[in-house]
Amino acid sequence: MKKIVSLLICAIFFLGFGCSTGKYFSCKKSWCPLKKKCLTTSVSDSTCLMKKNLADKRRPKELCPMKALKALRAGNKRFVTGTSIHPNTDDDSLLHAGNADQGDYAIATVITCSDSRVPVERIFDAGVMDIFVVRVAGNVCDVDEIGSIEYGLAHVHTPVLVVLGHTKCGAVTAVTHAFHGKKHQLERNIPPLIDNIEPAVKRAATKYSNLHGDDLIPHAIVENVWQSIEDLFMNSPSTRDLVKKGKVKVVGAIYNVTTGSVEWMPESDVIKILENVGKNPNRALNPYATDKKAAHQEH
Ligand SMILES: [Zn+2]
Repeated sequence: MKKIVSLLICAIFFLGFGCSTGKYFSCKKSWCPLKKKCLTTSVSDSTCLMKKNLADKRRPKELCPMKALKALRAGNKRFVTGTSIHPNTDDDSLLHAGNADQGDYAIATVITCSDSRVPVERIFDAGVMDIFVVRVAGNVCDVDEIGSIEYGLAHVHTPVLVVLGHTKCGAVTAVTHAFHGKKHQLERNIPPLIDNIEPAVKRAATKYSNLHGDDLIPHAIVENVWQSIEDLFMNSPSTRDLVKKGKVKVVGAIYNVTTGSVEWMPESDVIKILENVGKNPNRALNPYATDKKAAHQEH
């Protein structure tokens, strides 16, 4: 009896699957994955959007940085309180993304650590086309990361950049341990990555000379966010310009991997860093690439 039931289930599954794939392969026009059928006219995917007009969700052309920040804060509050609404994650949103320009939708660029405890869209309760994300161990700002940020600000037109560090950061912890003499062998490509973090750890050690061992790590994590912002401003004249014109706001923040909460750092400190970089003769000056190696050549 059991055998007959199992065979029956297999047959039903196979027939169902076969029907659907058969229709897909015989579809000469447009296959609509949402309706799971072949459309009769030759049209784009957007014709199979059903429930609502997602074009209405476009970001206002000149979205105020404060409003974008407010949306991120509200999203994190929902995440922390267990009231996430998971916006823009349904089938309609996916299909729409294939035909839309992210530059009309994304409200923020976020650079953060690669750590798996920092799921960016989740912690801001955001979805498809909401956030332009740059991820790298230790949320450092080196050439590739700065290039990605410049794209997010100048081409995706996001009015906010969040430099997001996080508690318990392994990259910052490793550099702090090395600073205290606890070194171990590293793979060949790791040193050029973590050398971006070293100035932050040294500064934290100077500022908090009374602290020892792992007590220094939370301060090094904060300093590392400021360091990334300084490195960005030093090497990206176009970002400095967008901030000075008020088109973009750069903010530092720390994500708490235990509570899910984002703690926002003082915006006044970002302005101080920008002012100091403006006086630094070593800052990059040309906002545009003159050739493909511009970022490496100009210093
Ligand atoms: Zn990390």
